[in-house]
Amino acid sequence: DKFVSILGVNFINTNMKDMVERLKERMQSGQKGFVVTANPEIVMKALEDPTYKKYVEKADYVTADGIGVVKGAQILGKPLPERVAGYDLMRNLLTVLNEKKLKLYMLGAQEETIEKAVQTIKVEYPDLQIAGYHHGFFKWEDPAIINEIQETQPDLILVALGMPRQEKWIAEHIDHVEKGVFIGVGGSFDVIAG
Ligand code: UDP
Repeated sequence: DKFVSILGVNFINTNMKDMVERLKERMQSGQKGFVVTANPEIVMKALEDPTYKKYVEKADYVTADGIGVVKGAQILGKPLPERVAGYDLMRNLLTVLNEKKLKLYMLGAQEETIEKAVQTIKVEYPDLQIAGYHHGFFKWEDPAIINEIQETQPDLILVALGMPRQEKWIAEHIDHVEKGVFIGVGGSFDVIAG
């Protein structure tokens, strides 16, 4: 794999199509994965907070979320081919789940928001399976969510807790599951819920 270091964060030097293909392969073969779609805010946070940087370093792939990172890479003489934004990557992976009848778990956002987002996803992607979902305002140490993920074995786990919580939650819990691709998707559930 080709990586490009931008202010100490190792980005994968690839495009959306390849990223979707890699994650599809991981999901279909029952492997784990951790993706951070990093915007400039995430790069700055990693720069100033070594604990947060450790969480980001645990990711298999860090992609350029937004034109700011793509432009920044260009200026630093380390061009990245295109943006691989969280929302777009999520939409593309939902299409893959729908085609392959794979399982989704959703964590994050307010209770009404996630319920609406789940309903919308069921309509737009009728062939994917919802393994479960949970709103994003829970007690951090409560094992209920990770227990549910362990039991239901989803192929994709979307974590919408905002930065830096979502990367921390994934980094702290991914070792407790056998399979599944984890992605932090920020405010995406609010967008889907409309
Ligand atoms: N959120 C959550 N739990 C929290 C804080 C935030 O589930 O403890 C959710 C929030 O409801 C929203 C999402 O995280 O759906 C993104 O939040 P925010 O806009 O603050 O983060 P950003 O998009 O800037 O990463």
